[in-house]
Amino acid sequence: MKYDLIIVGAGPGGCMAARKAARDGLNVLLVEKLKEAGSVTRFCSRLLRLGEGGFSSDKPVTDVNIQRATCTIDVGAPGRHVIRMHGLPDDASFAYAGELDPCFNESWVSPSGASFHRKANNRAIDGFVVDKEVMLRGLLDDAAAAGCRIQAATRCLAIDDTDDGISLKVKTSAGEQTLLAKRAILADGSFSPLAAQLGFDDGRGEGPGKLRFMSFILDRCDVPFGEMHRARFTQPSVHKGFLNVGPWPPGLWEISCSAPVASPVRLPQVLEAFMENSAFSDLFKRAKIVDRQGCSMDLRPAVREAARGNVICIGDNLAYAETAIKGAFGCGYMAAEATARALDGKPGNDEYNHYWTHAFNFFSPQYTVRSTRQPPIPVVLDDGETDSLFAWFTENGIYGMPADILPANRDKLMADLPQIALKLFGRGSVAQITNLSGEEGA
Ligand SMILES: Cc1cc2nc3c(=O)[nH]c(=O)nc-3n(C[C@H](O)[C@H](O)[C@H](O)COP(=O)(O)OP(=O)(O)OC[C@H]3O[C@@H](n4cnc5c(N)ncnc54)[C@H](O)[C@@H]3O)c2cc1C
Repeated sequence: MKYDLIIVGAGPGGCMAARKAARDGLNVLLVEKLKEAGSVTRFCSRLLRLGEGGFSSDKPVTDVNIQRATCTIDVGAPGRHVIRMHGLPDDASFAYAGELDPCFNESWVSPSGASFHRKANNRAIDGFVVDKEVMLRGLLDDAAAAGCRIQAATRCLAIDDTDDGISLKVKTSAGEQTLLAKRAILADGSFSPLAAQLGFDDGRGEGPGKLRFMSFILDRCDVPFGEMHRARFTQPSVHKGFLNVGPWPPGLWEISCSAPVASPVRLPQVLEAFMENSAFSDLFKRAKIVDRQGCSMDLRPAVREAARGNVICIGDNLAYAETAIKGAFGCGYMAAEATARALDGKPGNDEYNHYWTHAFNFFSPQYTVRSTRQPPIPVVLDDGETDSLFAWFTENGIYGMPADILPANRDKLMADLPQIALKLFGRGSVAQITNLSGEEGA
């Protein structure tokens, strides 16, 4: 049977694409390599962040007209919530039957307990931690009800895109098989060999490298800000990175850390050191580890042309690091619409590429510079300097993400804490610091 559309991957991007395409009347097959479509094995903190704020900066970009893929949430009675995709038509909204744990603010904490915060207001909801599997299963039920065929335990091994359409080689427990379709949406997540086979990755270039993540799920955790608040603890003498702590509904906690793949750091040992032998050990005294998860992330430049021939790549597979859950939903909806348009002889690929390159901050050179201009705080500062910097933010009433508030307060930081400024801003600040302090190389 030749399908109108085969979607590879039942993550947020693929599930949303399947639902939209089936509702629009396409004959759709969704294939997923895991035994059960809608299950999640790749670690994800599951925070559906509201608003325009990015991964490393909250400042709006002005160089590209970004219409950020983001969402709002109508909170209903338990199990009756609605996720609304910002800027997309009403039929992109969907019901969510799982738990919604609000997150209020995020804080960075130094070894001595000095802290600064992302927002001045501790009661403004930053986002909600969701049960990602419940969310995906809801979309899959909608897709199936609209006629989408869902085939789990089916790994796509190879893809060919010809004038006649798409040919996919898949492997199931019954053996290998070839599936045919007019078009395909690749929603297979990071490290996609399929996108690479079709040449989408050609000339993509390398980024700063791959990162490994490791997380422990804990039954309890005594963070000083209460359970609806995410925190990033740091003690550079223990690890040159942050220990991220956040809620993991229902009722659990997630702690995670990361390091470059190329570094010899062993992440489970880092997490154990934070829990057992650090300035923060008291927070974990009563905690029991109930699960462990890990994953990698490749920080590569995003590919601009995500729709080409009969294929659209969506979500993480051509992104810089990640599109986040809400971004993948936006891609899924728009790719399904673009597919229907292309099948109708309309310029669906061009329309999708326009959406894609305007929906994410990583297509803004301004944002990229913002995110990379300073070295991470725990990489360049020691424990004492971290204490001083975090206390300085608070004393001066400074709120926001480090990538935003450090450059915005650079002159004052150079005047007040020149040694720290030098480490954070590098050689460019030497001359100014010298002028300020009168000592060469201060
Ligand atoms: C450490 C970390 C923390 C994160 N935290 C958050 C967070 O708090 N909030 C947030 O919004 N986002 C977060 N993200 C990002 C988020 O998880 C992703 O951006 C999002 O899940 C991308 O969705 P996707 O549909 O593109 O891909 P994925 O979610 O990766 O789904 C891809 C699907 O394709 C399937 N698949 C892969 N290959 C094949 C194949 N060959 N054949 C068949 N099926 C295949 C996979 O099994 C999977 O089901 C985090 C990511 C990382 C790495």
